[in-house]
Amino acid sequence: MNVSDSEAISGILASAGYLSVDDIENADLIIVNTCAVRDTAVSKVKAQICRFKPLRNRKKIKIAVAGCLAEHEGESLLKDLPIDYVIGPDRYKFLSELEGGVRVSVSSTDDENGFYSGFSPVRKKGVNTWVQVMRGCDNFCSYCVVPYVRGRERSKPSKDIIREIEGVVSEGFPEVTLLGQNVNSYKDGDLRFHDLLRHIDKIKGLKRVRFMTSHPKDLSDDLINCFGELSTLCEYLHLPVQSGSDKILAAMNRGYTNKDYRLLIDKIRKRVPSIALSTDILSGFPGESDEDHALTLQLVKDIGYDAGFMFIYSKRKGTKAASMEEQLKREIKVARVNEIINVQMEITKAKNSQCIGNIEEVIVEGVSPRNPSKITARTRTFKNVILDGTASEVGSFLTVRVTGSTGWALEGEREGV
Ligand code: SAH
Ligand code: SF4
Repeated sequence: MNVSDSEAISGILASAGYLSVDDIENADLIIVNTCAVRDTAVSKVKAQICRFKPLRNRKKIKIAVAGCLAEHEGESLLKDLPIDYVIGPDRYKFLSELEGGVRVSVSSTDDENGFYSGFSPVRKKGVNTWVQVMRGCDNFCSYCVVPYVRGRERSKPSKDIIREIEGVVSEGFPEVTLLGQNVNSYKDGDLRFHDLLRHIDKIKGLKRVRFMTSHPKDLSDDLINCFGELSTLCEYLHLPVQSGSDKILAAMNRGYTNKDYRLLIDKIRKRVPSIALSTDILSGFPGESDEDHALTLQLVKDIGYDAGFMFIYSKRKGTKAASMEEQLKREIKVARVNEIINVQMEITKAKNSQCIGNIEEVIVEGVSPRNPSKITARTRTFKNVILDGTASEVGSFLTVRVTGSTGWALEGEREGV
């Protein structure tokens, strides 16, 4: 979401006549787009901003803090950091006025829908590009700062989404990832997310569609039925579970149980047995006991995700969980998250080994950073395949046979060559 927002920021500034520079020494303005979801992200970005201080003094460069940290900490950042402007995620329209010295206030009011529809994002060249279908979140998971810093849920009109995707296809992108904090609650009048996918599937020239993030409580049968039916929709689903304990899921306000989640996965796999699945796990939520942790580990083992993103619970100011008693010690949280990461690492390796022998359609994404005679390509299931090739092939579709696995990535050879 932040990469996509940065592209929107670049588009807004480009339309106001700003140019981007390769060397930061030549900049007049540095915009630091930030995340506030975890404390580590916040500490890192603050340390980075402090490193800009000598440059700011020497070159009179202005610095703006954008994004969720701007919204979360607001004007106090002007006191705490060597910066000039603070601008929240729904206020980027005012970025071009910053030069005039306007210090834009931060707030998630609903007079701004935040879609910046009058501006074209400056998209990073490549195979995949991002298309925001909704912004904000109404779920209020008790640990999460997103609803406070990104405001209420808003869906982009479907006709604007279709037009945007037609535009990116004509720019040469074969793949889009539809973005929203909870795409399953997308709503444009009577049109829901699964209807949107069906419309998008008809766009000429578009080859692949992915979306994130889905909330398990809202994953409808209509949406599940799109898998395996719509030719553009890739067989990959990111479905964050967060915890395997019903007690913790309830305290997190997630709206489903361990059993509900397992039934949902069964249903999805029955529909598309080859689907790749990934998850987010939040370890060390207040009050999480050894038994709760064991339930999460068991769930991770039983589901057998292709990939997982594991996070240590981080207390966020203003959230319900921040005031819960029984905040856990850091050592416990770290030990638990490491245990889950290690279990998932083994599962990912085993899953990748099972792919050996498969024939896969891949899109070439780039040259391997480790070996210039190799290229990296992506399967529909979001796995990376490394094979012989050249930079000129970026964007082309190949049929490959998976010949091996490095653990994280697959190795392959062209089929029929
Ligand atoms: N809307 C998406 C993503 C939200 S943020 C969703 O619901 O899945 C991405 C991930 O960050 C979450 O899935 C959660 O695992 C993690 N996260 C959110 N708040 C956190 C916190 N306070 N501490 C640690 N991780 C957190
Ligand atoms: Fe945060 Fe929950 Fe909304 Fe995701 S669904 S952004 S975790 S509040």
